[in-house]
Amino acid sequence: MQDKELYQQILGLASPWTVECVKLDVEASEILVKVEHPRGTKFCCPQCDKLLPCYDHGEERRWRHLDSCQFKTILSAKAPRVNCPEHGVKTVSVPWAEGSSRFTILFERFAIDLLQETQNVKGSMKILSLKWDATWGILERAVERGKLRKEASPLPRIGIDEKAFKKGHSYLSLIYDLDNSTVEAISEGNDTNAAVACFSQLTEGQIASVEAIAMDMSSAYVKAAKQVIPLAESKIVHDRFHVMQLVNKAVDKVRKKEHRSLLSEGDKRLSGTKYVWLRSFENQTIQQEARFNEIYDHTLETSKAWCQKETLRDLWSQTDASTAIKFFKEWYRSVIHTKLEPMKAVARTIKDRLDNVVSYCTHGITNSVAEGMNSKIMSIKRRVGGFRNVENFKTAIFFYCGGLDLYPR
Ligand SMILES: [Zn+2]
Repeated sequence: MQDKELYQQILGLASPWTVECVKLDVEASEILVKVEHPRGTKFCCPQCDKLLPCYDHGEERRWRHLDSCQFKTILSAKAPRVNCPEHGVKTVSVPWAEGSSRFTILFERFAIDLLQETQNVKGSMKILSLKWDATWGILERAVERGKLRKEASPLPRIGIDEKAFKKGHSYLSLIYDLDNSTVEAISEGNDTNAAVACFSQLTEGQIASVEAIAMDMSSAYVKAAKQVIPLAESKIVHDRFHVMQLVNKAVDKVRKKEHRSLLSEGDKRLSGTKYVWLRSFENQTIQQEARFNEIYDHTLETSKAWCQKETLRDLWSQTDASTAIKFFKEWYRSVIHTKLEPMKAVARTIKDRLDNVVSYCTHGITNSVAEGMNSKIMSIKRRVGGFRNVENFKTAIFFYCGGLDLYPR
């Protein structure tokens, strides 16, 4: 088989396109495949599909294709233009690439597969020997076409949450579809305006379809939901993940304070134990469990706060709202009479929003979904390999968690 014929076959080139010649540049590790069409071929106007004679050709263009063995393989051709009586002179699209992309469809599909499988942009970039901008261009185009294709289906159970882009500042607000574990909207910031902007990316029909909204207990998201979602007050659920996050912070405050006072007496018992107390009991590693058993002492304030935290977790195994309220009231009484100020403060916060905490019983928002989405986003943030700007982060979230059809076709 001649090289022209071989490439004709393996590229899957369809009529009228044929391989004109194949050039191997050993030094550059590159194979150039020139593609042409016979004289007199007619092409369709890209706007109205009218079959027209070839008017002229554009500049020679190059598309990166899948490698042939270790050789970078480039397709090159001059895209034909037609002169449509209705639409004027138009460049005809070529069947192996999308619009102005510098890659063939097969190459982009492979790049998308690699990016998806590795969840690592920096690593994929190396394997594909692509530059930063070209790689992120592939992600951006994939997200753009995925969003255009995505239908606005109803969203009965959603969650809204914040994610820090840089530690401590620059936040994003995200809306999740809790039934499909996908990210549906992103806006910059974590205040009421940002949340309203995020909700506004949903269609009117989607807003009307919302039955329950999971969120933390910050007033910003509560306010925004009330502005945008009809009857929001009866739909808000402060889910276990967010409530327990707050309780964990309180336990940590107790530990820090006690640790400082113990240290002043030369007692280092609480050194390096932060996560021993924060992990739920069944999720502790073997080392953490051993350490826990070693230091747990009912006279320690941190131990008391830990017990209160672990007890509260049972709030989410109550079968209905009234038993959940009863359970909470007992817990509240046991906390409010202690001297653990951070725990008392969080108990009061929950009490103020109790109706929207126990509403999990009626809305069927499972405890794990918000937590699962959170860890999915965190893992992407860790694994992607760095972002130069907030747009990169947003693109990556949609690319990995948008539930989008990303492929060019
Ligand atoms: Zn036309």
